[in-house]
Amino acid sequence: MNFISDNTAGASPRVMAAIAAANDGAASAYGSDTWTKQAERRFAEIFEREVAVFLVTSGTAANALALASLTRPWGAVITHEESHVADDECGAPEFFSDGAKLIGLPGAGNKLSPDQVTQALGRFREGALHQVQPQALSITQATECGTIYTLDEIRALKDAAAPRGLSLHMDGARFANALVTLGCSPAEMTWKAGIDVLSFGGTKNGAWAAEAVIFFDPAKASEMKWRRKRAGQTLSKGRLIGAQFEGLLADGHWLDLARHANAMASKLAGAVQAGGEARLAWPCQANEVFPILSPALQQRLQVAGAAYLPWSDRALPAGLSLAEGEIVGRFVMSFETPAEVVEQLIGVFDAPRG
Ligand SMILES: *Cc1c(COP(=O)(O)O)cnc(C)c1O
Repeated sequence: MNFISDNTAGASPRVMAAIAAANDGAASAYGSDTWTKQAERRFAEIFEREVAVFLVTSGTAANALALASLTRPWGAVITHEESHVADDECGAPEFFSDGAKLIGLPGAGNKLSPDQVTQALGRFREGALHQVQPQALSITQATECGTIYTLDEIRALKDAAAPRGLSLHMDGARFANALVTLGCSPAEMTWKAGIDVLSFGGTKNGAWAAEAVIFFDPAKASEMKWRRKRAGQTLSKGRLIGAQFEGLLADGHWLDLARHANAMASKLAGAVQAGGEARLAWPCQANEVFPILSPALQQRLQVAGAAYLPWSDRALPAGLSLAEGEIVGRFVMSFETPAEVVEQLIGVFDAPRG
């Protein structure tokens, strides 16, 4: 029962087959191969417009290079204080942007609100000699708390950022999971709502090492080829990433994978809420479940061999707090999490009621 992350899974068989198919014969190098070109065409189709696509191998690289493209060294990125870019990338966004500052704001469920953004912009005055200049806003969809921004919420953030001309970046490590929940089109969740640059996640969705930086305004990508090369992310056998996207994106496979992961999460979330012993820290809106675990429940999970991560409680909603000994646990479902294993886990949650 391993619920540590959605990257404990390997790759989907279709991705493996696509890699194997790309293994035959010679191909041109550094992303000029047919698989990479095909992936670029698919992204243009999926997003219903011309896009500039840069394939990379990790989400950290995608986010850091995306943000570096949107900021100057004396610029700043407004983000949630517990976002992946702020907390989990070892300073890569600051490093690749040559020192741009990340301004972390609080917010329940790891979501930013337009009011907070407006307030933060007020603290960093436009043109002030002594202050960094906010140039980008970065949101995560789905968030690190498994919550989701609605399209209206994304548009409201864009409006809050607009008076200062900030670009909007979306960390979409779990883009597919959010998309299938909202049931909207990829275009609606991104450029139509004001997103300028997207880190499109392939790895957690079912690839080995495939992420894409997608610029909805190709003109903004003019320096990106050098940024990616300098970061060591321009692979000579680039067809290996292109092929992973071919495996994922053909026939809507990526959406099927995300639907499965989300269904497993909502199965667990539903059972936890029905059981009454544990409450959820945040609503389950994607492929992650965050129950609040009593000491007794932590003990039962340990005895049963259920692996999960203890999670930060900083972004709990107002009015929700932990009692002595309680922790927030993070349970993540992947494209291959079997229903039986989720049922086994539900049995552990249910144990005292027999
Ligand atoms: C996993 C994840 C990433 C990417 O992380 P890498 O380990 O660098 O691939 C980015 N953002 C979020 C929110 C994530 O969960």
